[in-house]
Amino acid sequence: MAEIKVYGAPWCPDCKRAKKFLGEQRAAYDWTDIDQDPEGMRFVEQLQNGGRTIPTIVFADGSHLLDPSNAELARKLGLQLKAQRPFYDLVIVGGGPAGLTAAIYAAREGIDCLVIEKSALGGNAGVTERIDNYPGFPEGIGGGELADRFIAQARRYNVELLSAVGVESVAADGEDLKIMSDQGHEYGAHSVLIATGSAYRRLGVPGEDGLIGAGVHFCATCDGPFYKGADELMVIGGGNSGLEEGLFLTQFAKKIRVLERGPELKASRLLQDKVRNHPQFDVHTSTQVTELKAKNGKLGEVLAKDRATGESKTFHPAGAFVFIGLDPNTKFLRGSVSLDNAGFIVTDEVFQTSLPGVFAAGDVRLGSTKQLAAAVGEGVAALLHIRQHLQKHSHIGKREGAMAA
Ligand SMILES: Cc1cc2nc3c(=O)[nH]c(=O)nc-3n(C[C@H](O)[C@H](O)[C@H](O)COP(=O)(O)OP(=O)(O)OC[C@H]3O[C@@H](n4cnc5c(N)ncnc54)[C@H](O)[C@@H]3O)c2cc1C
Repeated sequence: MAEIKVYGAPWCPDCKRAKKFLGEQRAAYDWTDIDQDPEGMRFVEQLQNGGRTIPTIVFADGSHLLDPSNAELARKLGLQLKAQRPFYDLVIVGGGPAGLTAAIYAAREGIDCLVIEKSALGGNAGVTERIDNYPGFPEGIGGGELADRFIAQARRYNVELLSAVGVESVAADGEDLKIMSDQGHEYGAHSVLIATGSAYRRLGVPGEDGLIGAGVHFCATCDGPFYKGADELMVIGGGNSGLEEGLFLTQFAKKIRVLERGPELKASRLLQDKVRNHPQFDVHTSTQVTELKAKNGKLGEVLAKDRATGESKTFHPAGAFVFIGLDPNTKFLRGSVSLDNAGFIVTDEVFQTSLPGVFAAGDVRLGSTKQLAAAVGEGVAALLHIRQHLQKHSHIGKREGAMAA
């Protein structure tokens, strides 16, 4: 039994928000739908003298909150929302693998640093069911456990970590930089590392959320090997990455079925020809996924509609790989650093962005390979260049000054 109990209803948007927040913070909770559970409804009314405000959230110490904001929930979970000082040598934006690795290296180098994470520390690694290709774990490792290890190592070096705090802007401030948090706090720094990652675009169809990691995937390199010997795998999205990843998947399954919602594949002509002439591929254009159905807790059926004829179709792949694009988390940087057309951060060979003193690493960077081990490596490389930048500007060794500023 979880120590936190959430009472609410499926139609209530604030219930969804609160559950999402607790889930992101990996805080276990029990959910009671008061529409379906008369006992739960009675409990809520009793607690509120007849009131029915939801979500009603009850904590292990017996206290409760009624329709709390994310900030109230964060305070209740004991999360630190404000940094201890106003100025640091380095502020790292994003507490995923790239950001946490850079923080560990910074602490070991004597660079005074703060990590600001919008959601939960660990980034995409923390929400991954199982990671099988990260070196050092021959049996694979749960994403949550790996993330906890990154966090524990950063804490061992006393890195200051804020979570549930987003960064809203990064801008030049004389020779230094200023960073604004969504809690209304401004911090100064000699350097900034942006490690805010990217979000895989989702289909947004019923059934998708509950099947991620259980038959629905976003990375063939990461999860393809789980399907060795399968009869059929599905690739959703007929762009370059969809077809490239599909070709990679041919070594695991007898058949690769590609669904593209547009009337034509969007990949390069060369890739299209390769796929069309490949005996293992079956390509369906103008075909849009409408629902993903579970069977025994895993993907059971993919329902789709032929957009040209209106015909409904049902497929039974062992797994479905979704490649409909990746959105870099860079909206807050528009106008302050150079981004490519898709929003990825453009860096030079030392990971520096167009704004002096601001560096970028990991999945958010143009040209990054969207792999965990690569993000960790980029965190290290960027930090070593940041160290040189701080040394060049005589900032390292002036820690006392930085702390007093
Ligand atoms: C479902 C899934 C499975 C995967 N499986 C594998 C696998 O098996 N093997 C593998 O090698 N790779 C895998 N990957 C890819 C891997 O997780 C990423 O390559 C890696 O996490 C990238 O690290 P990162 O630090 O660059 O970014 P992220 O992990 O995305 O971390 C970025 C962090 O920045 C935070 N952030 C965003 N905006 C802001 C802001 N404005 N202010 C503050 N913080 C912000 C985000 O909340 C996030 O926590 C998987 C990814 C997913 C989604």
